Amino acid sequence: MNQSTQSSLLGLSLAELTEWVKQKGQPAYRGQQLYQWIYQKGVKSLSEITVFSKQWREEISDVPIGRSVIHYRSVAPDATVKYLLKLADSNIIETVGIPSYKRLTVCVSSQVGCPMACDFCATGKGGFVRNLEAHEIIDQVLTVQEDFGRRVSHIVFMGMGEPLLNTKNVLAAVRVLNQDVGIGKRSITISTVGIRDRIRQLAQHKLQVTLAVSLHASNQRLREHLIPSARSFPLADLVAECREYVKLTKRRISFEYVLLAGFNDLPDHARELAKNLRGFQCHVNLIPYNPINEVDYQRPTDEQIQAFVNALEQQNIAVSVRYSRGLEANAACGQLRASRVGDVVALKN
Ligand code: SAH
Repeated sequence: MNQSTQSSLLGLSLAELTEWVKQKGQPAYRGQQLYQWIYQKGVKSLSEITVFSKQWREEISDVPIGRSVIHYRSVAPDATVKYLLKLADSNIIETVGIPSYKRLTVCVSSQVGCPMACDFCATGKGGFVRNLEAHEIIDQVLTVQEDFGRRVSHIVFMGMGEPLLNTKNVLAAVRVLNQDVGIGKRSITISTVGIRDRIRQLAQHKLQVTLAVSLHASNQRLREHLIPSARSFPLADLVAECREYVKLTKRRISFEYVLLAGFNDLPDHARELAKNLRGFQCHVNLIPYNPINEVDYQRPTDEQIQAFVNALEQQNIAVSVRYSRGLEANAACGQLRASRVGDVVALKN
């Protein structure tokens, strides 16, 4: 727990690492070596860096790089892997690796828990602990990359937490993931439930990342029912801010819409949604509800889902359905929660 005196090295740029080695009385080229061993070789401790002299390695062996420990790993039949990662302060977060033929996507957490308390989301039911540091976000990607033994191609901030309540660290992590880990900005998606002014602020950064906004309802009344923060940041204001984002960034937004049978999944809801999004450069991503224990929403049938898709398409809205991966590992959208650790420990014993 000596992190207060020495912050972690993961997250520092090549220039910053070079500065760090120089402060330790080492030649500048050691900075380049350190950079390679941290970002390319993925060392977990400085004592593993064999190009450094034994004596110097011993001197710096206590300095944390900032890597987590895999506490538990479970593989779903569709090859999606869920990890519980243990942080330096013993908090546990979840990360998911989602492989396909061409891609390896990592679903990263931005907070330990989440304060938004959306009614259908397991993470929200578990409460909020703290924001993640930038290195704790970067670490998740390196961990999945190493475990799969192949390059990560895509990152989605759709794990635990609300990224725009932790914008500073999320953006710091995005910078490193892009520049130092080598993941294209356009392959990084930040998903938010919408926090007043934060989408506008994000637009100022003119990043090439993709923005996904969790709408989930076609009108204010339904949205308030699902998302407590919708009371103080109404749907109309959120959509207006999204329109500004598109204007400023010239980038399309992806709207996420969880389909809850009989609640927000009727063709009338689709038409109402389309009305709200008229003239918008956007895309709607439907997520059939993934069941969690605490609430009794239902997933709609395939016919109901298709009827919703058809109704949106009739209104000229681009739409896709996200059939969540990893359901069997409790790793699908909305099923992530730290409190499962208790179960997991029991399983391991
Ligand atoms: N806080 C961010 C990231 C959350 S997780 C956000 O709200 O966008 C990513 C997506 O999964 C969000 O759209 C979230 O609303 C959705 N989700 C949460 N619980 C779900 C569930 N039980 N079934 C399906 N999708 C869910």
